[in-house]
Amino acid sequence: MDARCTNVMPPPLLSRGMVQVVSAAEHIDQAVAELASGRPVVMPTETVYGLAVSTFDVSAIRRVYELKGRPQNNPLIAHVGSVADVWPLIDGTHPLVEPLADACWPGPLTLVLPAAPTVPLEAIGGRPTIAVRVPNHPIAQALLTAFPGPLSAPSANRSGLVSPTTAEHVAHDYMDIDGAEDLLVLDGGPCDAGIESTVLDLTCDPPRILRLGSVSSTTISEVVGPIAEIAVPNQQANAPGTAQRHYAPRIPVQVHSPTSLKHDLSDAIDLVVVIGPTDLSVAAPHLHLQIPDDVTLASRMLYRLIRQADQSGADRLAIVLPPAETKWAAIRDRLVRASAPPMQ
Ligand code: AMP
Ligand code: MG
Repeated sequence: MDARCTNVMPPPLLSRGMVQVVSAAEHIDQAVAELASGRPVVMPTETVYGLAVSTFDVSAIRRVYELKGRPQNNPLIAHVGSVADVWPLIDGTHPLVEPLADACWPGPLTLVLPAAPTVPLEAIGGRPTIAVRVPNHPIAQALLTAFPGPLSAPSANRSGLVSPTTAEHVAHDYMDIDGAEDLLVLDGGPCDAGIESTVLDLTCDPPRILRLGSVSSTTISEVVGPIAEIAVPNQQANAPGTAQRHYAPRIPVQVHSPTSLKHDLSDAIDLVVVIGPTDLSVAAPHLHLQIPDDVTLASRMLYRLIRQADQSGADRLAIVLPPAETKWAAIRDRLVRASAPPMQ
């Protein structure tokens, strides 16, 4: 028998009363006024939605940490309009910034560099470095043009959970959260990339990837030569936000190969929702959320599928990992983290 359904639609939002989801293009001025008053604004980027405040507004930065429930030592990425806006944020210069900017900006590559002494420690998790990038989204760009200064913006999810790739995801996550009343969410449609930026540390030699993302190590190596990549994705000391469990839904998650999934489902007495390739056979009553075979499309849909799985009513989520090939590395990384046991 066929699986009961394929792509489950998320349930309607209970309320949008607590947060204001607005059409982005018409509300740039309102967003700038909110930011100028020290209130966070949710902005779409090409990666995921971000919870933005001025990098130099320390109390607004503190508010972002509170709203997200983010650990204080996990620094924020500063978003800037162009490479020229990077220099005031960093201490000195770096010869690889311009070539990387030429190759990858605007786009989902974040560079970690020594922070200028003027950058508040609150914005960088008390570290001596700052992460910067130029986002490739017309609304983020419009906001950065209209607002004087960089915008620090972590992903707009509650800490540890799945990043939002639509305005509805943000509204859903902040609906019942104290302090999110009247939070302005600029709806810029679904995010194009759908997973977070690649984070590249330029403070070491050779440069090192701290977080995998849609800019591949191959693209970066073509510009900078050899690079190091963190193989085990839980090295908290270097990238505090890369805790092993991350991007996780609320229901339990296991990762599988197609064969181990078959065994698992044949013995299952509970209801399982499966995220796996289109050609997978998943028999009812279990549910099958199909992930596209194309990496770009799969990235775009990944978090939406994980959220749908969470809301599907199933007892647990089984994910079939894509092949261990470089092009799938960032997606595999997210799925492995989503299935990691909760930290003690
Ligand atoms: P998010 O805000 O959810 O996109 O996460 C931002 C990521 O960038 C986290 O993994 C942070 O730990 C990492 N990050 C931000 N600033 C720095 C920094 N100065 N040094 C190392 N990693 C950073
Ligand atoms: Mg995040």
